[in-house]
Amino acid sequence: MSASTQPSSEPVSSKSAPREPGLSTLAVHAGEARQKAAHAITDPIVCASTYTFASTQAVIDYIEQKQDREEYGRYGNPGEKVVERKLAALEGGEDAVLYASGMAAIVGLLMTKLNAGDEVVFFDECYHRSREFCAKHLSRFGVVTRQVKACDYAAMAAAINSRTKLLVSESPTNPHLSVVDLEQFAHLGRQHRVETLIDATLATPYNVQPLKYGIDYVLHSATKYLGGHNDLLAGVIVGSREQLEPVRKLRGIMGAINSPHNIYLLERGLKTFELRMQRHNANGQAVAEFLAGHPRVEKVYYPGLASHPYHDIARRQMRGFGGLVTFLVRGADWKETAAVVDATKLARIAPSLGGVESLIEQPLVMSYYEVSAEDRQRFGIPDNMIRLSCGIENAEDLIEDLRQALEA
Ligand SMILES: *Cc1c(COP(=O)(O)O)cnc(C)c1O
Repeated sequence: MSASTQPSSEPVSSKSAPREPGLSTLAVHAGEARQKAAHAITDPIVCASTYTFASTQAVIDYIEQKQDREEYGRYGNPGEKVVERKLAALEGGEDAVLYASGMAAIVGLLMTKLNAGDEVVFFDECYHRSREFCAKHLSRFGVVTRQVKACDYAAMAAAINSRTKLLVSESPTNPHLSVVDLEQFAHLGRQHRVETLIDATLATPYNVQPLKYGIDYVLHSATKYLGGHNDLLAGVIVGSREQLEPVRKLRGIMGAINSPHNIYLLERGLKTFELRMQRHNANGQAVAEFLAGHPRVEKVYYPGLASHPYHDIARRQMRGFGGLVTFLVRGADWKETAAVVDATKLARIAPSLGGVESLIEQPLVMSYYEVSAEDRQRFGIPDNMIRLSCGIENAEDLIEDLRQALEA
């Protein structure tokens, strides 16, 4: 833990630790004061829309930055600061800005960084709502969005010009699990003096820490693995304090903030982050291997399989490959594929991913129902595709469930 990610009121001591603390130690302790309100071991949920000053002088001291404290709920909350420090520590970043959702986080960053006339380049497998926000909405403010084929670095280089301000990708992507070579992506940005953003929601800091590769901003939908329990929405951007300062300021104006109760749920969920990720990774790998060997399965997308086109870069760059597994049901039309989804008894039919409960969906129906067949083909979403987010149930039970669903 760097000094900058530690709160002033001394959390985990780095003096007694001869080594960097592990991820679970950080997940449990980082960002928290050692002694808390009412001597409670847990952080309080501070339900305050505003904060009082003892005197006019105290207001002036605060404005002149002589006193670090809260002022008004839209600008910050004590619990939010704890979670931001914890997330920054987990990601190995200086600072983190927490939002009400992953989308609020990306919108907040893009609105801060882009001006009329600026351009942003996306790898086309990036989260469709992020691309939609740029293409449909930022375009109304004169921002130009370019999209190039995922992991085509030459195409991205060719799309960069003097107006380009940001390169954006997800890694791994959803639902194809393509893995971006982060070193190459960061290099492309530095070479052209363009900032880089990686949406690492599917990877989490357990599997990869993009800042270490020179990426400027890491984005997470904390709704997924970070929260981990399918019971909250939140988003976060991690990066340097300097680069995030204007982002934080705009968040205070946008008001895309979390309720104090939501923040507590996130802090609580994070305590078991590493344990959950180990299980998600193990379940993802076991389920992918099972599916790859099943005669009714035509193809499996999982970076932990040697057959995956990005297996080598994933192995070099990632500690594990996550809980998301995408597969195609051999020779099935959309209805036969839906029948497999409907036959699962353990996995629940729902969008989202990264929670303790396994979730299953058919992308054609869940996300691309209103998209034309041509566009679906262009996006690589065949009718027989199923996306499974492996939860933390026992792998044997998940596999048994899939086996009976495929053979039903
Ligand atoms: C879910 C998701 C988002 C959006 O996050 P919300 O918390 O739902 O707003 C962004 N990127 C990825 C990769 C996601 O899976």
